[in-house]
Amino acid sequence: MQLRYSFRLYPDTGQQRALARAFGCARVVFNDAVRAREEARAARRPFPKAAELSKRLITEAKQTVERSWLGEVSAVVLQQSLRDVETAYRNFFASLKGDRKGPRMGAPRFKSRKDKRQSIRFTANARWSITDKGRLNLPKIGAVKVTWSRTLPTTPSSVTVIKDAAGRFFASFVIDTDPAADATRMPDTGRTIGIDLGLTHFAVLSDGTKIDSPRFLRRAEKKLKKAQRELSRKQKGSRNREKARLKVARAHAKVTDARHEFHHQLSTRLISENQGVAVEDLSVAGLARTRLAKSVHDAGWASFVNMLQYKAARYGRTLVTIGRFEPTSQTCSTCGVKDGPKPLNVREWTCTACGSVHDRDHNAAINVKTAAGLAVSACAAPVRPGAIPAQREETGSHGFPTPARAA
Ligand SMILES: [Zn+2]
Repeated sequence: MQLRYSFRLYPDTGQQRALARAFGCARVVFNDAVRAREEARAARRPFPKAAELSKRLITEAKQTVERSWLGEVSAVVLQQSLRDVETAYRNFFASLKGDRKGPRMGAPRFKSRKDKRQSIRFTANARWSITDKGRLNLPKIGAVKVTWSRTLPTTPSSVTVIKDAAGRFFASFVIDTDPAADATRMPDTGRTIGIDLGLTHFAVLSDGTKIDSPRFLRRAEKKLKKAQRELSRKQKGSRNREKARLKVARAHAKVTDARHEFHHQLSTRLISENQGVAVEDLSVAGLARTRLAKSVHDAGWASFVNMLQYKAARYGRTLVTIGRFEPTSQTCSTCGVKDGPKPLNVREWTCTACGSVHDRDHNAAINVKTAAGLAVSACAAPVRPGAIPAQREETGSHGFPTPARAA
């Protein structure tokens, strides 16, 4: 399985300038390649081949006055830009034909200097390395300081350097995991658990444990709200507004990081402690259209379930999701009787059939576990489990900054 490991980078002023140049050159080559294809399409000519584009847009372009500065950055970065365009078009056409799953993809768009996220990729043959002193040595940029928040399990095959909206730099390494080492790290356990993701608590487990977001996350969220309030009071176009905007971007990045870290810690713990994990299929896309939308997005359930999925696959655990139409909050986990709808404000209810008193979320978590067919309980709710194959995922997909520890 391939995973991504991200670390914060601290380039000095000269290196920042070199990186800005590399981002710019990669963008120009990307845009030139998109333009070449669009022109071919408009003229009803066949698309230029990769080798031809490489010759025209990199090798020959360097000899011209307008593009001579392309020679100042690593050629591998520019080649990668061309490959990125290829991939973007391949995905676009596959999506048009319906070969590609997921939402419809648009045609590749021109990149702008104003894009919030800038990135360049160095593949294995790009002569990048990690120095003895633990710096990331990049061709034509130099040895950049890295904060190694965790150890890389193996030698990475490629590295992407990212600058985010808050002006921070990250290195995102691609790693192939080692199944033998993973098996040692997380030996088999006989336990299973059901998880109910809720609004009053982040999660409630079938063993009765209630999990709230940690204080470091709540504190970051409070700071973000304050920064947003300040921004809304600043006059449009003023310099103070620009300062406040940057402050919001930074606070936002902190919240994202803290939430990501919390999801990592919790998903690793649950996967480590349990052989089988059951969770409701939230189908967040559907929920997000309701008025619960904000809490759903804030809670970040989808990203959490994603982590459970790839960690289950990585460590040989079973992750089961049950259909979102199963009435987990209406069914008595003791006798299995459907007791009718319960409005969200009903936190505790008594079963009309057997008299059991239920905490709403705990009862739902037990039902999730039972429904997934993991429980031995005889009074299982009559629902069908739907086992889904855990998918290949990345920690911090799309170069998402991943602070400290991830499994
Ligand atoms: Zn009952």
